Amino acid sequence: MSWVTTHPPARVDLDACVTCGLCLAVCPTYRLTGDETASPRGRLTAIDAVDQGIAQVDERFGEIVDFCLQCRACETACPSLVPFGQIIESATAEVRTQLPSTGARLRRFAVTTALTMPSLLRTASVAIGVAQRLGVPSLGLRRIPLPHPTVVGGTWGPSEATTATLFAGCVADAWFSDIHKATIELLLAAGYRVNAPSRQTCCGALAAHDGFIDEAERMAEGNRSAFRDADVIVVDVAGCGAHLKADPEFGHKVRDVTEVVAAAIEDGRLPTLPVNGERVAVQDPCHLEHGQGIVEEPRAVLRAAGYEVVDSDAGGLCCGAAGTYLIDHRRTSAALGASRADSIRATGAKVVASANAGCEIQLRRHLDAGHEIRHPIELYSKNLSSTQRGE
Ligand code: SF4
Ligand code: SF4
Repeated sequence: MSWVTTHPPARVDLDACVTCGLCLAVCPTYRLTGDETASPRGRLTAIDAVDQGIAQVDERFGEIVDFCLQCRACETACPSLVPFGQIIESATAEVRTQLPSTGARLRRFAVTTALTMPSLLRTASVAIGVAQRLGVPSLGLRRIPLPHPTVVGGTWGPSEATTATLFAGCVADAWFSDIHKATIELLLAAGYRVNAPSRQTCCGALAAHDGFIDEAERMAEGNRSAFRDADVIVVDVAGCGAHLKADPEFGHKVRDVTEVVAAAIEDGRLPTLPVNGERVAVQDPCHLEHGQGIVEEPRAVLRAAGYEVVDSDAGGLCCGAAGTYLIDHRRTSAALGASRADSIRATGAKVVASANAGCEIQLRRHLDAGHEIRHPIELYSKNLSSTQRGE
């Protein structure tokens, strides 16, 4: 065996693969290249070879592992329930440990240190916000509000109501405050008290996906302390939610905001709004569809918001954002982003709903300014406000 970390891929998980190949058709990197080593089955074969001591963690192994988007479409397709996400995270950790590089060190600083330091994140956000106002291209980011907002430490609503604990996130809190605002408004309208504990930190998903599992575990420890007394933890970024749902201590309390709002619409705590004649194209984030098994809830929320809902992703391929993949595999990421943008344009919809911040950035980079790209919760909240004002 050639592993050196304390959390290598588990033999029982590797043995679960029966090499049937049913995962190949849904794998974006295999579909782009036709190369078996860029498929789930090929990656598992390479990892299995290292586990058996037949191969080493070398440059080629690093390429095979790092080319994976970690979209987990193969998990959904796999009849043997191979936990591919866990396996590839463990293999990535081995690559980071055994094949250190300058790029990985920089990413490690970004995803394990910068994202957990509110003062550094605040300074960077203000700098980006100022640059945006001076005309520097936004590269898919929303216009960052100045002064820097935060919901962390806030409490809203009557003390006697059931408390929904809001996971604020790192860049989500700094750069996507409108999504938090809509989430808080709808939770209050659905009868909850909302609390965003001050001790919470970054979820650790980006760190874990990039192989920094020990650092991700340290972040999880901070969140376990912050969320110890929570009844339900509401998350409005799908990538964070998928990671938090896997936590052994509080994961069972985590809900995506579309689950909570769809349930409130279903039982009448939130209204079904009049049909507005607009078409919305739904983009299914991998970490919502494959990571959490959530497909129907965003559509239910959008239908209740009055939209005609259309699917945008025939084939269900990842949009190519995939955390830091957007930066270190730019050509593959761009090809997938362009493909997803084409599928959205083909629907004719000018409104696009995406429940994951990273996907939203990718879509904005590949669609023109004529498209409004928002979280499903923002679209429902906006239409609810318009209806209440009688517009
Ligand atoms: S579908 Fe599952 S069992 Fe079949 S090759 Fe892919 S990972 Fe292995
Ligand atoms: S996680 Fe996505 S990119 Fe990686 S092997 Fe599975 S389907 Fe392919």
